[in-house]
Amino acid sequence: MPDQSQPSAAQPPTADRAAAAPAAAQPAPGSVAERLAVVRGRIAAAAVAAGRDPGEVRLLVATKTQTPDAVLEALAQGVDLIGENRVQELVAKAPAVAGRVADGSLEVHMIGHLQRNKINQVLATATCLETLDSLDLAQAISDRCVRDGRTGDRALEVMVQVNVTGEVSKSGVGPDDAVALATAVAALPGLRLTGFMTIGARLDGSAGETVRAGFARLRAVRDDVLASGAPGTGSATELSMGMTGDLELAITEGATIVRVGTAVFGPRPAP
Ligand SMILES: *Cc1c(COP(=O)(O)O)cnc(C)c1O
Repeated sequence: MPDQSQPSAAQPPTADRAAAAPAAAQPAPGSVAERLAVVRGRIAAAAVAAGRDPGEVRLLVATKTQTPDAVLEALAQGVDLIGENRVQELVAKAPAVAGRVADGSLEVHMIGHLQRNKINQVLATATCLETLDSLDLAQAISDRCVRDGRTGDRALEVMVQVNVTGEVSKSGVGPDDAVALATAVAALPGLRLTGFMTIGARLDGSAGETVRAGFARLRAVRDDVLASGAPGTGSATELSMGMTGDLELAITEGATIVRVGTAVFGPRPAP
């Protein structure tokens, strides 16, 4: 019997193992699994290129218009953070993900504009509201949280949405007012300010510098708020910025959360 502990020169053991790997270990082309692997590769490469630890950047999978099954497919690939734009979809998908939210293995962020009359639904299903953009809204949510006994550890996580581009079509507080709003929000009971969110300028060809400048602006707002030392601001470290088209620019400027839909699920149907 030949001595199998000695690798033969013609066929090193590593090559043997690679050849023997079952085809099923490779995700199917075009599948959510394959797309997620590509997105994670992009995130890691951008972080390394920016001299950052890839572990500092979390992937939020934006699930708008996707079915609960598609969402579960993403969760099966280790996704632990999803975002919804519309309260109606948040509520519709809640049963499919409630178990994971309850056991702490999944966070659900509201990333779309919130109307005051839907606060209850968000409180029941989301772990974080990323789109806080007025003190009125913050006060209303705070009041509700206090009434429900949701303070301290059970406070709702919130981020202040900043409109860094000044486009009137976008929600969010202006950068000049963001520090004052964040400081006021941070002091409210029932809310825990965890950071800042923005939607970048449209990326068309040469506009990369504009997009980047907007992301840098969000980072400056966060740094000002952290430096203020105001009560409740110490936890405001997150920068939720960057999507399918501009996540590399956002990571270069310090994103800690990138929100990605199209690159994970493929193109959405036109609204
Ligand atoms: C849809 C959406 C995303 C994801 O956008 P993609 O370009 O599909 O990656 C991120 N953030 C918000 C607020 C969104 O509405």
